[in-house]
Amino acid sequence: MAPSRSAQFDLVVLGGGPAGLAAAWEAAIAGRSVCVIEEQPALGGLCATVERDGFRFDLGGHRIISKRAALVERLRALMGDELEERERKSVILLDGVRYRYPLVARELVEKLPAALVARAAVDYGLERARDAIRDDRDERTFRQWVQRRFGRTLYDLFFGPYTEKLWGLSADELSSDWASQRISLLNLADVSLRLAGLRRGGARTYARRYLYPRGGIGALFTRLARELERLGVVFHTSARAVALVRDRDNARVTKVRVTDLRATDGDDVTSELRCGAVISSVPLGALAALVAPEDPTLAAHAAALGHRAMRFVNVLLEGPGPVLGATWVYAADARLSITRIQEPAERSASMTPPGRASIMLELPADPASAAWSEPDEALASRLLCELASVGIDLRPRVIRAFSTHARYAYPVYRLGYQRHRDALFSAVSTIDNLWTVGRQGLFRYVFMDTAMEMGFAASRAFAEGRRADSRALFAIDNNPTPHELASVLR
Ligand SMILES: Cc1cc2nc3c(=O)[nH]c(=O)nc-3n(C[C@H](O)[C@H](O)[C@H](O)COP(=O)(O)OP(=O)(O)OC[C@H]3O[C@@H](n4cnc5c(N)ncnc54)[C@H](O)[C@@H]3O)c2cc1C
Repeated sequence: MAPSRSAQFDLVVLGGGPAGLAAAWEAAIAGRSVCVIEEQPALGGLCATVERDGFRFDLGGHRIISKRAALVERLRALMGDELEERERKSVILLDGVRYRYPLVARELVEKLPAALVARAAVDYGLERARDAIRDDRDERTFRQWVQRRFGRTLYDLFFGPYTEKLWGLSADELSSDWASQRISLLNLADVSLRLAGLRRGGARTYARRYLYPRGGIGALFTRLARELERLGVVFHTSARAVALVRDRDNARVTKVRVTDLRATDGDDVTSELRCGAVISSVPLGALAALVAPEDPTLAAHAAALGHRAMRFVNVLLEGPGPVLGATWVYAADARLSITRIQEPAERSASMTPPGRASIMLELPADPASAAWSEPDEALASRLLCELASVGIDLRPRVIRAFSTHARYAYPVYRLGYQRHRDALFSAVSTIDNLWTVGRQGLFRYVFMDTAMEMGFAASRAFAEGRRADSRALFAIDNNPTPHELASVLR
């Protein structure tokens, strides 16, 4: 339901993804009037699920894994028995060979060339020797960080090609900040080194188990939206926030200007919502433009903060699954343009009609590139040919394929990104009743649980009448490791 043009709310939330919906939830429970503005027709943000002919696909494979016990309990209470507990089965595809992940030592001995393991061992020894001479080595870039820990051979074999494919830039340009958040991939090296006898101790505990809603990750947010409606929250979808109007001192937002994207020619497309406060989960650069549209310096900082976009090619297949024998496959193989292959039914049987199967191909792509706008059929056919070249030939089973796009999939931690983020952050932080939250809002590589926790925290601060302080929200992201995460899943 869209709000009336003269509507007034205690809180206006920008963005109906996990962070925005969490903020609305907390505020509605505290008895505040709330309106959520979302530019897409559907809610859920990156955590939406699309449906075609009874097949369901997330925007990239999502799973719920969180060490935040209170949040997990809240989601369980919301979803009841619609939240299923699953076990992850992931595989790495390298040079046409599949390695179970977490890696199994015997499998590596059987499959990896002995010369490669020996070379990795020598490289690793060299890195340790360098560390012994100087322990303050430069590790600002992703390449430096990985090579220092794992050596050149493993970098060249896996991390380099995969990373450059995922980010579309050289690992020399990527900040090492990202590395610490990709522990699950880094364990490839960890296990290889154990195998080579270069690292001792018991095998690491990996987060194998996770929660997943029946009907896809989007089902969680559809259910949450229903609950929010019950609490009186008003939704304005297919509507874009285009300006934040401030009071005379410029210290508080008083109105949010909204463009109705569904309006047809001749309709008045812009309305203004009066508000007591705003919690925004839109990209930080876009928020700075809402606050100060004429500021060229802020615009330059916003332009310098890149987002990696993803295209998801969803393939409907004849005949039953499983197809991959894994929930997902990391495509480290240089012959493949994609970074991962997902089999949705491995997360929940509800993702395909009975007797049918599906896969989803994750393709990083620049919106200016040909791959972003290539017609679905041509793109799917190209990617399926590539897959066939590494031994996964699904072409005879294809019913049809379609794709979905995520323009803001990953914040790119390009070297020096912090300077631009801080400048934008300082600009929006001058406003007393404006919080910026979530993955895009804080330009932070966080998962949905952290994004929701940020929404809750901002909303609590608002409900308690505190001045906005989004910097405090950074503390919520403590980069938990899979080991820590595993501990809260029953
Ligand atoms: C491929 C992939 C796989 C992932 N897998 C996992 C996983 O397994 N587990 C996990 O926990 N997390 C995963 N994530 C991360 C997860 O998707 C994010 O952490 C989460 O969606 C962040 O929520 P958010 O609300 O901060 O941002 P978003 O989900 O991006 O929501 C922001 C919303 O703001 C809206 N918006 C933007 N501008 C405007 C505007 N001007 N006006 C109105 N609305 C606007 C957008 O349309 C969007 O709906 C994955 C992400 C990707 C890309």
